[in-house]
Parts: sequence; C-alpha cells; structure tokens
Amino acid sequence: MTIHDVKCAKCNVPIEGPVDAKPESAVSCPVCGISDTLENVNREAAEYVTSKAADALSDKLAGVARGSKFMTYKQGPRNHKIYRFVVDYSPDL
Ligand SMILES: [Zn+2]
Repeated sequence: MTIHDVKCAKCNVPIEGPVDAKPESAVSCPVCGISDTLENVNREAAEYVTSKAADALSDKLAGVARGSKFMTYKQGPRNHKIYRFVVDYSPDL
C-alpha cells in the first residue's frame, strides 16, 4: 500500500505527504489538515480494510445461514471504531 491509496475518511480526499515519505514522516489531509505519521496512517488504513473485510464475510455468512434451514449464524459484534484514514475498499467475496 502506498500513501496515494490512503484518504481522509472525513473529506474523502487523498492524504498528502513528502514524495520520499518515510514511516516517521508527517502526512496530512490537504482539506481539514488532520495529520499523523505515515506509519500510523498506513496502519490505520490497513485496520480499516481488515475490519471491512470481516464485516463483508460476516454478512455473507449471515446470508447463507438465512437461506438454509439447517444453519444458524449469529453475527459477532462489529468493530465500530471511527477511522480517520481509509482506503477505497470493495469486498471481493
Ligand atoms: Zn480531511
């Protein structure tokens, strides 16, 4: 993942940083100015994707269970963390 994939969750614009950004380099949203280190931003964006993938899988399993008389599926608790930094994510299931 590169920084160019990461967006500000609030403004939906790409996060900007130095061309030769290092993990400790500060990167920020050009609109609202929210800022963190590249390392933290990438980690949060990766968490966001993991959380989205888990939700999508959970929805899929729930759908399968609904269509079957022999299966019940109880959805686990969702992760309701608010992410500041996100990436475009489309479930591929
Ligand atoms: Zn922003």
